[in-house]
Amino acid sequence: MCKKTRLFFLLMTVMLPFSSSAREVTVSSPNGQLVITVSDANNSATYSVALNGHEVLLPSALGFKTNMGDFSKGLTITGSKTATAEEEYEMRQAKQSKISYRANTLLVDFENSQRLRMQVEFFVKNNDVAFRYLIPQQKDERPKCVIITEETTAFCLPNGTTSFICPQIDPMKGWERTKPSYEEEYEADAPLNKKSRYGQGYTFPCLFKTPLSSSEPDTSVRKTKAAGEDFYWILISETGVSSQYCGSHLSDYLPPKGGQEGGFRIAYPQQGENNGFGSTSASIALPGATPWRTITVGETLKPIVETTIPYDVVKPLYEPSQTYKGGRYTWSWLIWQDNSINYQDQVAFIDLAAEMGYEYCLVDNWWDQNIGRERIAELSRYAQGKGVSLLLWYNSNGHWNDAPQTPRDCMSTAMARDREMAWMKSIGVKGIKVDFFAGDKQETMQLYEDILYDANRYGLQVVFHGCTIPRGWERMYPNYVASEAVLASENVYFSEHAARQEPFELTLHPFCRNAVGTMDWGGVIMNKHMSRNNRERHQRKTTNGFEIATAFTNQTAVQCVAMQPNNLTELSQTELDFLRQLPTTWDETRFIDGYPGRYVVLARRHGEQWYVAGLNAQKEPLRLTLDLKDFNVKKKIGDSVSKKSKETTVTLSDLKADKKGNVKIEIQPNGGIVLF
Ligand code: CA
Repeated sequence: MCKKTRLFFLLMTVMLPFSSSAREVTVSSPNGQLVITVSDANNSATYSVALNGHEVLLPSALGFKTNMGDFSKGLTITGSKTATAEEEYEMRQAKQSKISYRANTLLVDFENSQRLRMQVEFFVKNNDVAFRYLIPQQKDERPKCVIITEETTAFCLPNGTTSFICPQIDPMKGWERTKPSYEEEYEADAPLNKKSRYGQGYTFPCLFKTPLSSSEPDTSVRKTKAAGEDFYWILISETGVSSQYCGSHLSDYLPPKGGQEGGFRIAYPQQGENNGFGSTSASIALPGATPWRTITVGETLKPIVETTIPYDVVKPLYEPSQTYKGGRYTWSWLIWQDNSINYQDQVAFIDLAAEMGYEYCLVDNWWDQNIGRERIAELSRYAQGKGVSLLLWYNSNGHWNDAPQTPRDCMSTAMARDREMAWMKSIGVKGIKVDFFAGDKQETMQLYEDILYDANRYGLQVVFHGCTIPRGWERMYPNYVASEAVLASENVYFSEHAARQEPFELTLHPFCRNAVGTMDWGGVIMNKHMSRNNRERHQRKTTNGFEIATAFTNQTAVQCVAMQPNNLTELSQTELDFLRQLPTTWDETRFIDGYPGRYVVLARRHGEQWYVAGLNAQKEPLRLTLDLKDFNVKKKIGDSVSKKSKETTVTLSDLKADKKGNVKIEIQPNGGIVLF
């Protein structure tokens, strides 16, 4: 008896400090279904995310290390505050033009064992969470600046989760030591603990699929789901990275160990980026903040495709100097390559743009040497006479890789940019494509921002290639158009393997890469063969219907239509007429159906007109019955296969709905469809 009582008291004394000191605070979404729980149990800061009672993100570490103090352990919650946030704003060049949101916010105060303070701010919508760290001014107002050397921020996913992610590559690899440039291959439905291809983790955004059965369901709130739909989809990324921080990626998956939570961790740039020069950490002034890390969660892929979280938590950093115009551009380089950078060939692509009613023509690398500045001015005048504006290619270098293409050293300093951009303005150039950046270090983020800011002063829109993903940039920088940051169309030209992968890639990106930011895939390709004469080299593996539909599934406000002059006589009138009226800016985007890497059907609205576009990357024709009552679509353009010759052609027909308003569609293997 006595013994038992003593044991009880002993337990109490051991337990008490833990139970009394562990604090937990929660915040839920406006509809109450998404709940974030923040805890300081065991003097570690963690957060977890539950949707409809299912834990979709297990308790995952929060914290970071600095040269001022360690905020990765010995943390206690000292206070918290909730509030609501509401906003309406407009976007010119993203998936939606008028955005309004309601969110609940939570600010949690932590103190570390040295009594230094940090805060974690959560922003919670019905299907999105964004969070960031704030470092306030400390007691004696010193230091005024801090270096954040590493983060412990983790994303710990339930067992059975599979990934749709892209490996981070070793720096200074690849062509002329230009990597990393977010141009590696995605793997679909990969196991969580599979080691990444280069052992360097994964680039954002990262898509995950979690089976419902892996977590304990709260049956009181669980919704009924159809068989085969028992998943949660989770998209992890970051936003709000300006010159004031580095870009991050995810580490390899770390299994839980010794009482420590595992998961993917936030990883900072690799030391070897920029030829080993520059920082692998972030430097901020106090009070200061990190970028936002974002988690979008859905029972379907709808919240993923439609998310606006990259834009909701950022603000424009400057005013646009003018109204920038979206549009279509022709591009000789994709198939005619470097040899086409001469006056006559560029005239051919300007004429093609004019013939198609397109706004822009992109002149790619070596133009300064092969055409020369005087004749570029002449070419620009010629283009403007036909209602077409030139976009000019530039090398971002500098000193960060060996890419030899010129013009070099025109975008790397403020003096050079000023000179170059003033010249471009004087000859009527409307935009630039800047290529071959060098990873995610804070110094490189500064260069992106400086180019954008200076370009705006000269009325230039900016597309980046060989680069990182945008992180809220469509809203932060009003003249920013898009980034490549994807294994893009040039690879379809370079290798038959990439041509075979195109349907997989383009049915994946609406759910990950293109869901968090505009993407310059670089072209609706209409040549059958990847050569100038359209007879030699390997064939494109997609149908014409597929390519046409990618103009809708790939989102960027300045869209490349990489057709060649020969396509004008090769394509049918139906195809040409439709290609002439492609919109590139969107008022609304809606997910309809799909599975990453297999097929996608989504709807985008331009003005009053809805377009429902579908792509099929599978080996069999895809038959779907869709409820399209909301979209008022009446016509269908897509592939038809001749029963006799088995030849695929693009046909236009009226769309017939059944009595219930449902529409039956069939999308051919590696084919596509657009309903409008
Ligand atoms: Ca590239």
